[in-house]
Amino acid sequence: MNYIRSRLGLKLFLSYLAVLLVGVSVIWVTTRLATPRAYARHLAYMEEQMGSSGFGTMMGQGQGQGQGQGQGRGMMADFYENFQASFNEALFVAVVAAAIVAVIVSWLLTRNIVSPVQAMMSASQRISAGHYDERVHSSGSDEIAQLAARFNQMASQLEQVETMRRQLIGDVTHELRTPLTSIKGYMEGLVDGVLPASAETFDQIHHEADRLSRLVDDLQELSRVESKAYSLDVRPITVSSLVQTLLKRLSPQATAKRISLRSDLPADLEPVLADEDRITQVLVNLAANAIQYTPEGGEVVVSAVRRENEIQISVKDSGIGIPAEHLTNLFTRFYRVDKSRSRNAGGGSGIGLTIARHLVEAHGGRIWAESVGEGQGSTFTFSLKTAS
Ligand code: ADP
Repeated sequence: MNYIRSRLGLKLFLSYLAVLLVGVSVIWVTTRLATPRAYARHLAYMEEQMGSSGFGTMMGQGQGQGQGQGQGRGMMADFYENFQASFNEALFVAVVAAAIVAVIVSWLLTRNIVSPVQAMMSASQRISAGHYDERVHSSGSDEIAQLAARFNQMASQLEQVETMRRQLIGDVTHELRTPLTSIKGYMEGLVDGVLPASAETFDQIHHEADRLSRLVDDLQELSRVESKAYSLDVRPITVSSLVQTLLKRLSPQATAKRISLRSDLPADLEPVLADEDRITQVLVNLAANAIQYTPEGGEVVVSAVRRENEIQISVKDSGIGIPAEHLTNLFTRFYRVDKSRSRNAGGGSGIGLTIARHLVEAHGGRIWAESVGEGQGSTFTFSLKTAS
């Protein structure tokens, strides 16, 4: 019984067989009950139509009327029996033919339904064992084919998530290793007496610990924006108020590096639809990078322009520039043009622009970088929808 329960194909075949048997039984019972009466009725009708003598003569083949009628009745009984026998024979042939058809139909159905289901079952087992590249073959457009297509879609999403997870663990491990190795090296140097216990040594250790803690903060923020675990409070807001906040916040940093930080905005700019805090975060990130990668005496300008139904806000610097081949990769997490350069220039983790991209895209906008080349400055631009 359990064997039958676990076999869909067998169950389909048995259900066909059951329907067939019920059909045959009903036909058999109804003919058993109805045929004798119907047969007698038709005979009586025939007798009536042909006249008793004619009928008797036909059945008795021209002999005496009484004798002829008796023989006629006997022949009628024989007729009926033969009729019943040929009916049963025909019913038997029909049952055999229907059983063969049931076998063929259930085999075809099994092939079309059970095989794909079995394929999905074994694929899901392989996926749960970590083989995320497993897919099932799907053809046609019926529900089973749709299920197979959805299954493949789910498998490729799982594969993507798994690849991202592996990449993230690899990246994070790599990023954590560098400051940790540094701190360990300093500590060993101090213990062995190779390094002096001076303010400078402790300062270096503090610097590395600080980098670790910033990396952890950045990772936390990245995980929040990547998983969209925040809500946007989108309202109409003027670009000038966003830029004012930015200038106020970053002026001390720019002044300390003798960099001119200024804005260049048209007077009649439409308000944009934005979450003030989130877009300020993007602007601060871009302008802080611009200050970081611009040598002393340089310039950082924040400007904006309307293009159709969006406003493009740019942060342009006169800094070290970016080689063309790196421009599209900058928004990928942990990507740095020159790892040692950005570390020495202030210990960036390569996450800031990834967070900025997520935030801008959450507003329905785009972000991109342009640079003529190394030493020629860079421009980072993002777009936001206008409020009207
Ligand atoms: P980081 O924290 O390293 O600055 P970001 O994601 O903000 O990380 O930036 C990624 C990389 O893009 C930086 O490491 C740097 O190489 C490059 N970059 C970003 N902004 C500029 C800029 N204004 N000028 C030159 N290079 C830049």
